[in-house]
Amino acid sequence: MYVCTYRLAGKVALITGGASGIGESTVRLFARQGAKVVIADVQDDQGHSVCESIGSDDSVSYVHCDVSKENDVQNAVDLAVKKHGKLDIMFGNAGITGNIDLSISGINHEDFQRVFGVNVYGAFLGAKHAARVMIPAKRGSIIFTSSVASVILGDVPHTYAASKHAVAGLTKSLCVELGRHGIRVNCISPFGVATPLLRKDLGGAGKEVVEDLVSEVANLKEAKVEAEDVAQAAVYLGSDESKLADKVALVTRGASGIGESTARLFAQQGAK
Ligand code: NAD
Repeated sequence: MYVCTYRLAGKVALITGGASGIGESTVRLFARQGAKVVIADVQDDQGHSVCESIGSDDSVSYVHCDVSKENDVQNAVDLAVKKHGKLDIMFGNAGITGNIDLSISGINHEDFQRVFGVNVYGAFLGAKHAARVMIPAKRGSIIFTSSVASVILGDVPHTYAASKHAVAGLTKSLCVELGRHGIRVNCISPFGVATPLLRKDLGGAGKEVVEDLVSEVANLKEAKVEAEDVAQAAVYLGSDESKLADKVALVTRGASGIGESTARLFAQQGAK
């Protein structure tokens, strides 16, 4: 008997900000786990080169998409559906830090608009157009990249922190409406990852220097947060493994044997 072990076999995913950093790692991991992926980004050369480096078939493709423009997002979703027949996973990951001035007086209207335009309105548009095709299908998984800045504060610009709180709020609000249609909505809130974004924010520092700086302020020592760690979380949330999240299960005879194994697996998969 053939047993398929790819965690995203048969899934179609759209990944915004997929040309670099966390998004790029997620594209690569999703492809390794059997998904068909459309990368939506504004860095066209980089997006195409990620596709080419993964393979010559059409399972990973690129579309130019500024997430803050509704026509671009609508087009990216429609392209994924046209190409692959459906959309199972929308990973709204594109994000920017904006002006890295930590003082409120250093942030102007234009910067505020730009950060909220990409981080919040971009996430909103991704969800809106994903929902348009997921609701009739009665299933789907929408995932955003929020940030540790939505949980603990300090050392990031106010605009960025506020935008990532908004992403967490949007996630919770969307759960209420879209959950009724069988669509899961989650966000991942990573700690510092030495991607081009963070390296640029830290004055163009090298990857190892950034990892050391992050490690200095992290609770968990001796462990580096890699972009692929975030990608692994996205695989879990995009896959059917996460369907048990928030379910409440009663496992009778759960103290040993099959019952015990089931209870452990249910708990591992997020059930209460
Ligand atoms: P990155 O700069 O390596 O990747 C971000 C990608 O988003 C780039 O490819 C960029 O071209 C794309 N992008 C930017 N504006 C866009 C737009 N308007 N439309 C479409 N694509 C756009 O950075 P990253 O660190 O991989 O960031 C990914 C996400 O992770 C962001 O939302 C960021 O806020 C979040 N995040 C990063 C960290 C970290 O420490 N690196 C921590 C927490 C959260």
